[in-house]
Amino acid sequence: MRIDIVSLFPEFVAQVAGHGVVGRARERGLLALHGWNPRDYAEGSYRRVDDRPFGGGPGMVMLVDPLRACLAAARAADAKPAKVIYLTPQGERLTQARVRELARRERLVLLCGRYEGIDERLVAAEVDEELSIGDYILSGGELAAAVVVDAVARLQEGALNDAESAAQDSFEPGASDGPLLLDCPHYTRPVEHPLGAVPPVLLSGNHAGIARWRRQQALGRTWLRRPELVDRKALSEADRQLLDA
Ligand code: SAM
Repeated sequence: MRIDIVSLFPEFVAQVAGHGVVGRARERGLLALHGWNPRDYAEGSYRRVDDRPFGGGPGMVMLVDPLRACLAAARAADAKPAKVIYLTPQGERLTQARVRELARRERLVLLCGRYEGIDERLVAAEVDEELSIGDYILSGGELAAAVVVDAVARLQEGALNDAESAAQDSFEPGASDGPLLLDCPHYTRPVEHPLGAVPPVLLSGNHAGIARWRRQQALGRTWLRRPELVDRKALSEADRQLLDA
């Protein structure tokens, strides 16, 4: 997969997304990141990329032309068609389902705003999709782009040492068709610790019992922490019994 990042600080995204699983995905050739800086496409000795907003008010707005030329260069760098995504708090909220969909694409171009944002004419003409990483305001789209890069990179086949671990994560449908649940709690050594003991079922070697306990924990946690994710009436009989137990 190839991801192009259009940003005034493209190296920032590459750096954030250069460690752990994402770094490994890049080393393994599963993900290529390319940065593009609109300032390189700006005219004049000041290479200006922003200007004051029409109508007055605080802040600056990113200019159409440097961004447009930069996007055109990024698109042309590879023959594969690219989906252009503008990271903005006004976009559709990113979910794991959307991440899965993006991870299947061969190419993405992530557009990062700064200041008050981007001139709306550029957004209307060039952007295929607007995505938000949550209802809060960042000072730039770079951290949001890094979130997208990280989330899609770990889903590339071969990025995780154990592919099953992604299937067990929160918000993943797993093998069943049921609700999207939070993950169950996890424990590791030592078995006994001043802070508590590991639940005995996890030491029992009874795989069916462990699976049942994990499902029950996931259902219970989700019910308590994110009740909007669990429609009781839509649960399977087995899940309902686990939740009520
Ligand atoms: N004035 C804009 C608004 O209220 O919608 C916010 C501009 S923000 C200070 C600057 C840039 O940060 C945005 O253009 C966007 O690229 C990025 N950004 C800020 N918050 C974000 C979020 N929650 N998700 C994705 N991108 C965000």
